[in-house]
Amino acid sequence: MSAALLVHGGAGAIGAADPTRLATARAGLARALAAGARALADGAPALAAAEAAVRALEDDPAFNAGRGSALTRAGTVEMDAAVMDGSTGAAGAVACVGGLRHPVHAARLVLERTPHVLLVGPAARLFAVEAGAEACAEDELVTERARADLARALARADAALRGTVGAVARDRDGRLAAATSTGGLSGKRCGRVGDSPLIGSGTWADRRCAISATGDGELFIRTAFAHRVASAISHGALSAAAAEAALAAVARMGGGGGCLVLGRDGDGSAHQAADMFRGAWSPGAGARVAVLGGEPLAPA
Ligand code: ASP
Repeated sequence: MSAALLVHGGAGAIGAADPTRLATARAGLARALAAGARALADGAPALAAAEAAVRALEDDPAFNAGRGSALTRAGTVEMDAAVMDGSTGAAGAVACVGGLRHPVHAARLVLERTPHVLLVGPAARLFAVEAGAEACAEDELVTERARADLARALARADAALRGTVGAVARDRDGRLAAATSTGGLSGKRCGRVGDSPLIGSGTWADRRCAISATGDGELFIRTAFAHRVASAISHGALSAAAAEAALAAVARMGGGGGCLVLGRDGDGSAHQAADMFRGAWSPGAGARVAVLGGEPLAPA
């Protein structure tokens, strides 16, 4: 069994025309791949590797998760994150949390330390901090770009798509895991929860595949997106066909986005309707990234 890792940093309206932004995104994806690959090379389980890759993306203000999260219409940070361990079917998630440096770690703590799957709001933060997650001041998560995006979203009087980060990993024992983390949509209502922390919508892993999605969250919820992909694979579909069919269902409802799919063998794949920040690592091919829609993965 060989290890593999895929990461994403959001799809769609991500400013793909801006060369500086593209270069920053490529560098951030490469750092996330390095963090996850290091964990896998050290023999860490898939769940820890997926978490390590997402933590690196949460630390990077270029992505909409952790520091750099999109802001609510009130200018506050409300982050969502989930993890799922495909080898056990265990899952953990948090939603609408602020003041945490790594919401993905809070999600893992929910998985490991509680009988629950999803904790929300201030109580989720309190639990995570008591369980050892790193707290931070709200201000430390807010970037100038997030403020500017909020101003644009409010001027358009709707919530704007701002990306998400995620990772899927397979360890050398063949275990699969998925992790997803996001600030959600710029200008969203306070209390809004997207697809990322909802198991089967933005995040899924089982013994056959691991999936992390990004896109119009409400539509990914209404299509049970990640579980739809996994279910098609369990019925014999190839992962590419399963992902394309699920994205087509989202497109029929008027939305878009993308996803990562990693199976029991192979290097996995990213699928997207438009541009998508994405990267892949395997022991044979090393780390490769791409940011534009039709662009092939190239060495990071
Ligand atoms: N799916 C995320 C959400 O709805 C946003 C994104 O991936 O762009 O919160």
